[in-house]
Amino acid sequence: MLEDSFGRRFHYLRLSITEACNFRCQYCLPDGYKGPSDDAFMALPEITTLVKTFAALGTSKVRITGGEPSLRRDFVEVIEVCKATEGVNKVATTTHGARLKRDAKSWKQAGLDQINVSIDSLDPRQFADITGHNKLTAILDGIDVALQEELTVKVNTVFLKDYAGKQLHEFKQWLKHTPVTLRFIELMETGDHPRFFKQQHLSGGPVKTELLSEGWQPVIRTKDAGPAEEFFHPEYAGRIGLIMPYSKDFCQSCNRLRVAANGKLHLCLFSEQGIDIRPYLKNGDVPGLMAFLQQLLGKKHATHYLHDGITGATSHLAMLGG
Ligand code: SAM
Repeated sequence: MLEDSFGRRFHYLRLSITEACNFRCQYCLPDGYKGPSDDAFMALPEITTLVKTFAALGTSKVRITGGEPSLRRDFVEVIEVCKATEGVNKVATTTHGARLKRDAKSWKQAGLDQINVSIDSLDPRQFADITGHNKLTAILDGIDVALQEELTVKVNTVFLKDYAGKQLHEFKQWLKHTPVTLRFIELMETGDHPRFFKQQHLSGGPVKTELLSEGWQPVIRTKDAGPAEEFFHPEYAGRIGLIMPYSKDFCQSCNRLRVAANGKLHLCLFSEQGIDIRPYLKNGDVPGLMAFLQQLLGKKHATHYLHDGITGATSHLAMLGG
């Protein structure tokens, strides 16, 4: 079992398979991706060793992320490897969703259980303004296909000051009839975007107060749940979640570890540096990596230091997958 010195247990691996993304979200890669090519990233046999090792230490849920994971040519094989690993019972991915309409069926067949699609606005013009791509309609069609394929669908919406009023209203209307869980994510500060953060960050606290006053009720957390506090309402087909990394005690329920596409383990989304585990992966050394991981967990800090504006080595979230 992976357990740290604060008694937190880690069932959930966030596995980034590429840093590349073809979207240009204002808060992430506004000037587009300019990093290394795909062959710098972990190859399928390395990913296989990685997932096997984490599963042997109690990981039951793997989220495949990026960059944009669906840009990897072997994305379907990565899903298959995760799903085939003994001990892993849930495979999820986070995607911009532009390939969903075409590929949801093959991802499901490969073993995918859940997708999180990032949609920051339901207004096509605002969506294009935020992401640099006029693809909202295609992505919403993709969500319909994913639901038909019986994938669990969650939507990630970064809460931004310039759009917040409209975001809340439009998404609530949409959730009346759409059976997805929408999660508002508080904008987090990253090394590349301190000014954007100061201009656009909003606390999710008032949204929680509003939801509770409207009769939304808290959903009980499962052991592999992500960071969202989720709410349901009998009159809505969908649910709403809030991810509030700046709220008190956010890190107490941390159950996640992250491995970047370059094979570095990050004990926290905002840690000072990644720890190189690639030599173990290259050698297929499962027992060696198990021992190394158990020893490293003692170094995990109680909390991130975002409140002090300390963003660690994370210059933007595409490098780690959020
Ligand atoms: N390309 C995929 C996508 O579009 O969802 C996966 C990678 S993306 C980095 C993962 C998630 O992080 C997305 O939902 C995105 O909106 C969120 N994200 C990126 N930068 C963020 C920031 N500074 N604060 C909060 N969320 C952020």
